[in-house]
Amino acid sequence: MTRPLRLAINGASGRMGSALLDLLGADDRFTLVHAVVAAESAHDGRPVFPGAADSLRYAHEWSHAPAIDVVIDFSGPTGLAAALDHCQIHGTALVSGTTGLDAALEARLADAGKRMAVLRAANFSLGVAVLTRLLREAAAALRAWDVEIVEAHHGRKQDAPSGTALALGRVAADARQTTLERAAVYHREGRTGERNDGSIGFAVVRGGDIVGEHTAMLVGMGERLELIHRATDRSIFARGAMQAAYWLAGREPGHWQLDDVIATPR
Ligand code: NAD
Repeated sequence: MTRPLRLAINGASGRMGSALLDLLGADDRFTLVHAVVAAESAHDGRPVFPGAADSLRYAHEWSHAPAIDVVIDFSGPTGLAAALDHCQIHGTALVSGTTGLDAALEARLADAGKRMAVLRAANFSLGVAVLTRLLREAAAALRAWDVEIVEAHHGRKQDAPSGTALALGRVAADARQTTLERAAVYHREGRTGERNDGSIGFAVVRGGDIVGEHTAMLVGMGERLELIHRATDRSIFARGAMQAAYWLAGREPGHWQLDDVIATPR
């Protein structure tokens, strides 16, 4: 049997980091060798797995990190920048879900693909990755059908439509050789007039504890296709990131997508 991959988690004490740690216990594909948290974190220096005799401790730097096959990052822009420094020097594969990067960090990441394998996703759900693939195909095949995207989330969500809904809209627009900027309709109220051919409409539901639901509707004359994804647990993002890390470790330098992971399973 091949040895487990040596994994580092950046942002190990956060919501996503904790979800990753929960899954690691039952996953023999990986050995956790480094767990990084923010410098001011109360976790710094504490054991990552309480009770284990030779337990790994939370660190806030990369300088004394052991050999690593792949890093999973769910931290923040500053944390990602530090992990990127380390990965670039060592050519270590990097899976990152961190959002909200500025243009300079985006440019650094784009350049890093020359020296290391990088896989980023705004949504690490494997189900959403497959939905995206199906929508691309359906929007191209059913070219005259109307596309509408409906999303639902809990009431605390700050933005609308969700980033995933926008990404789905972008894929549908792209499949029809247009752009989301040209095709999107975000508001309908009062005397809207008839639906414009080729437009992509968005509708948003907010309430309760809905984790995240996305429906892509393709509406024809006398028939309708609906592609629906429902998330019931946030651990799906951690599960998808681990699948991506397993897939990415040892790959040649470049930028990879979650779509590559589902297209060619390892
Ligand atoms: P969180 O605030 O719960 O956790 C952040 C973690 O990062 C903590 O462990 C913190 O100590 C660590 N951290 C912060 N600054 C750091 C630094 N400079 N160096 C090292 N570690 C640092 O956040 P979260 O909810 O786990 O989300 C983290 C990121 O992942 C956010 O950008 C979020 O938008 C993104 N996210 C992406 C997906 C996806 O599927 N792509 C899903 C959920 C969250």
